[in-house]
Amino acid sequence: MRRLTAFLLTLLMLLSLAACGGQTSDPPAEDPDAPDTGAGEPVEVLPPEPEPYDILDPTVMPEGGVRDGVTYVAYDGIVEHLFFHPVIAYPELAFDGDAQANGLDDYMVTVDEYNKILQSVYDKGYVLVDIGDVWSETTGEDGQPKMVKNTLYLPEGKKPLILSYDDTNYYDYMLQNGFAYKLIIGEDGKIASWGKDPQGNEVVSRDLDAIPILDKFVEEHPDFSPFGAKGCLSLTGYQGILGYRTQTDTKSWSEAQEANRQKEIEAVKPIVAELKRTGWTFGSHTWGHIRLGSKSMESIQADTARWFDEVGSLVGPTTILFYPHGERPDGNDWQNTGPVFQYLQSQGFRVFASVGIESFSYIKKDICAVICDRLHPDGTTLRHSRDRYLQFYDAKDIMDVTVRPQREIDWA
Ligand SMILES: [Zn+2]
Repeated sequence: MRRLTAFLLTLLMLLSLAACGGQTSDPPAEDPDAPDTGAGEPVEVLPPEPEPYDILDPTVMPEGGVRDGVTYVAYDGIVEHLFFHPVIAYPELAFDGDAQANGLDDYMVTVDEYNKILQSVYDKGYVLVDIGDVWSETTGEDGQPKMVKNTLYLPEGKKPLILSYDDTNYYDYMLQNGFAYKLIIGEDGKIASWGKDPQGNEVVSRDLDAIPILDKFVEEHPDFSPFGAKGCLSLTGYQGILGYRTQTDTKSWSEAQEANRQKEIEAVKPIVAELKRTGWTFGSHTWGHIRLGSKSMESIQADTARWFDEVGSLVGPTTILFYPHGERPDGNDWQNTGPVFQYLQSQGFRVFASVGIESFSYIKKDICAVICDRLHPDGTTLRHSRDRYLQFYDAKDIMDVTVRPQREIDWA
């Protein structure tokens, strides 16, 4: 608003200069909708407002040299990116032979497997970096905005790792299948999970969900997160966020439902604040977990607006979009920049993350955006991609064969 006021003042000055030059005889018409410019008052010089999508915080990453006995050196190599879903706290509920068991086997890891994976990537010299620090937006030589990859300054000998967590909404189907029900703030003031064990007892814990488990791991191994980064939480909106049912329902809506929704919104706010304070960031996974390669433009626009309305309003602005199902907008976001990609970019997204088997990232030349793939530790890759993941861990040491369904394993 202030910036607009300054702009209008400048415009008025330019217009009056033009009038003085005799080019126009009519005074500029009065615009009844124009804001009060405070004409006649001294022009206030204001510092520039922060860019709403400025994701690079230069204070988090020292630029080389020695600090506290640690030598930081420039790193311009590959930045690995692994993603998880919520982790399975109670395998006996997840792998009980019901209709979801094989899907959970394909896409999830158990708490025990997750603990071993964190330990292994730590042992192999990875350190956590925030996805928002890896690339930043700048102005190219042609005056157009573009993304650039930042030089990272890492503790000597360390390798950067981004973590992201999809669908940390704690959907209804997860609650019956051995996952946490929601994130809460425990009595110690720290993020914990709340849920029920197989006997139906309420359980508050920091050992049964991926988010507090990582918090705890970093407390015990602070050098795993030299800049305070944790992971980026990829949220849909159709069943609320983080276990709180903050969504609207277009089919039926009553005052009681709305009152409950408002209660959930108030309840999740301190959780979001504490996550942010402790290094977690947020990205969009679309409101409805929609397929960006095949949905109509109209429905994608409506979905995006709804995400900002119901999720962005709670977690704040983000530049990160995680494709549901890994499905690329317009069918191809790499060689082409189609209308859906252009639309999503126009909504502020700059980092577009899919799923793949390569450590792939690509800065687009024709639009200010970067696309990147993520590797996926889960049952599928534990069973079938042991070699590909050896740089992070050995599936033989990780996979809990005894609790998972008896299905094919390549390395067994
Ligand atoms: Zn998903």
